[in-house]
Amino acid sequence: RFITLEGGEGVGKSTNIAFVAGWLEARGIDVVRTREPGGTPLAESIRALLLSTDHAEPLDVDAELLLMFAARAQHLAEKIEPALARGAWVVCDRFTDATFAYQGGGRGIDPARIEVLEHFVQKGLAPDLTLLLDMSPEDSARRLAGRLRSENTTLDRFEREQAMFFTAVRDAYLARAHAEPRRFAVIDAAGPLEVVQRALEAVLAE
Ligand code: C5P
Repeated sequence: RFITLEGGEGVGKSTNIAFVAGWLEARGIDVVRTREPGGTPLAESIRALLLSTDHAEPLDVDAELLLMFAARAQHLAEKIEPALARGAWVVCDRFTDATFAYQGGGRGIDPARIEVLEHFVQKGLAPDLTLLLDMSPEDSARRLAGRLRSENTTLDRFEREQAMFFTAVRDAYLARAHAEPRRFAVIDAAGPLEVVQRALEAVLAE
């Protein structure tokens, strides 16, 4: 089985992916937990390139899209497909829905062009279940601001621009969930963690 976790910034993806993986492992399931962009050393190098703020020139939006799919091709070949082939469950922090949300909704790339690459790279492979952690753009901006203050981190290139397109990203995610209601479970991520995790648990149990 292939499970992906999606959502905008500040929705609690990191905490909740650990919960999802732990919940499955506690039931004896062999879980491979991974993330995108990244997941293998080479794909993580592409991630570093994507997130870096020190390029001497702006990263072209199509180049960004292609790098996302280059990282994905590597990740699929080296990690996801072998894991699924041996019967493990893959739990992945972000996958192609994020590309439709960020590069599509956020950066304005025509989704039809993203679909071409999706077919080219995935050859029909898609998640069995996608858990979408959903929150209003206002709530996620507030959480993100708190996290940055408490961790004393700096914004990466994406996050810096992110504030401007929170809404477009969220709308693109929700549109995908609406189009594929059987694959998606939309979880309200604005409430207390226990409530969010009870909702996740209910979906996993089903
Ligand atoms: O999921 P995570 O927060 O680790 O993602 C790292 C950064 O990459 C985030 O700022 C996210 O907005 C950005 N990203 C993106 N397009 C994707 C996937 C992630 O802009 N397809």
